[in-house]
Amino acid sequence: MRQSQLFTRTKKEPPRDEVSINARLLIQAGFIKKEMAGVFSFLPLGLRVLKKIENIIRKEMNLLGGQEILMPALHSKEPWLKTGRWETMTDLYKLKDSADREFALGGTHEEIVVPLVAEFLSSYKDLPFAVYQIQDKFRSELRAKSGLLRGREFFMKDMYSFHRSVADCESFYEKVALAYKRIFDQVGIGRMTFMTFASGGLFSKYSHEFQTITPYGEDTIYLGEAKGLAVNREVNTPDVLKDIGLDEEKLVEKKAIEVGNIFQLKVRFTEAFDVKIKDETGKLEPVYMGCYGLGLPRIMGTVVEVLSDEHGMAWPKNIAPYAVHLIALQKEVLPEAESFYEELNKSGIEVLFDDRGEKSPGEKLVESDLFGLPIRLVISERNKGKIEIKIRTEKESRLLEKNEAINFIKNYVE
Ligand code: ATP
Ligand code: MG
Repeated sequence: MRQSQLFTRTKKEPPRDEVSINARLLIQAGFIKKEMAGVFSFLPLGLRVLKKIENIIRKEMNLLGGQEILMPALHSKEPWLKTGRWETMTDLYKLKDSADREFALGGTHEEIVVPLVAEFLSSYKDLPFAVYQIQDKFRSELRAKSGLLRGREFFMKDMYSFHRSVADCESFYEKVALAYKRIFDQVGIGRMTFMTFASGGLFSKYSHEFQTITPYGEDTIYLGEAKGLAVNREVNTPDVLKDIGLDEEKLVEKKAIEVGNIFQLKVRFTEAFDVKIKDETGKLEPVYMGCYGLGLPRIMGTVVEVLSDEHGMAWPKNIAPYAVHLIALQKEVLPEAESFYEELNKSGIEVLFDDRGEKSPGEKLVESDLFGLPIRLVISERNKGKIEIKIRTEKESRLLEKNEAINFIKNYVE
């Protein structure tokens, strides 16, 4: 992609009215645009990040055997009345059409997915299975002040699994927890993300949140560093700590962002819709259910929160909009940079090419640090045909011949 053709522009300053790091940097760099509190447009560079996160998640959900579907955002009132959540879910958006009919905008999809799968379920032989979607959610969030971390409209991956027994549901649940770990590793926040015990509500002993440690997190967790496990505020009782083998003396209080969670719903929703299956003898038995959420923009915002420095963002290679930022530092080297750009493209390397003649070298380098692509390549008069390579997270750069540079990049992005 040539920067001369990119329709977005970097702002001189981060937006004054934003307090969170992710909103300040992503908006300044033109990755996203805020439409109103908690509602964002994703622009070319930002959308590439979101899509890469989406693909990592999709791959892991498919490995679990999840079957991808897509459910609507606009829901009729009836299923929400049936589960009681029309009244109790305080962040549910409700709307009326011109004929005074009432609807909900989905903030979660148990009310839709349970009747949906029930159409196809009759006997124990149909279980287990899991369906998932990556889809737009709506929630009436009162505290939508932290950029992508808390949207009123946001993409979520929500998976729902269906089982004949609690034990089967538990064993699938554990596999999902492992898949989540792999996802957080791949998007670059694995090191600071911890499985956190939370109360399971009425249905099971615990649910689990995945919490990423950062000083700007809204949640407080208590981390047992030796075990790499945490408990959240409400479960931090002596009984619970004993149960999960954490030593109260050694817990460290941390601020964190909840990037995902998993829940055993048992029969809460299948019973509400009277979904049963026939056992071997034809007798009806209950269906057990688990649900598993991940907020895609929240993950993207979290990466910015935890991996940025004073110069800007620093994308991990798996989710960077482009692997390489190629910069023609002066007008004079444009032809040389053009032909190297072609070579990189031919080698299958994803490149953002700063081919703008009117920007000063200083402006280009400052903007490049703000964008935070993993590798910066500078072509400059003083380098005399060699390429200056700098890894965003390292201090020093190195000078390489062009063919060496391509090998270096290929090794790095592999
Ligand atoms: P929170 O306590 O932060 O409000 P939640 O418990 O309401 O989160 P869930 O209903 O379990 O979250 O949603 C599943 C996942 O969706 C969360 O783990 C989070 O990653 C994401 N998520 C939830 N609310 C938002 C939001 N307003 N904006 C962006 N992502 C969100
Ligand atoms: Mg919430």
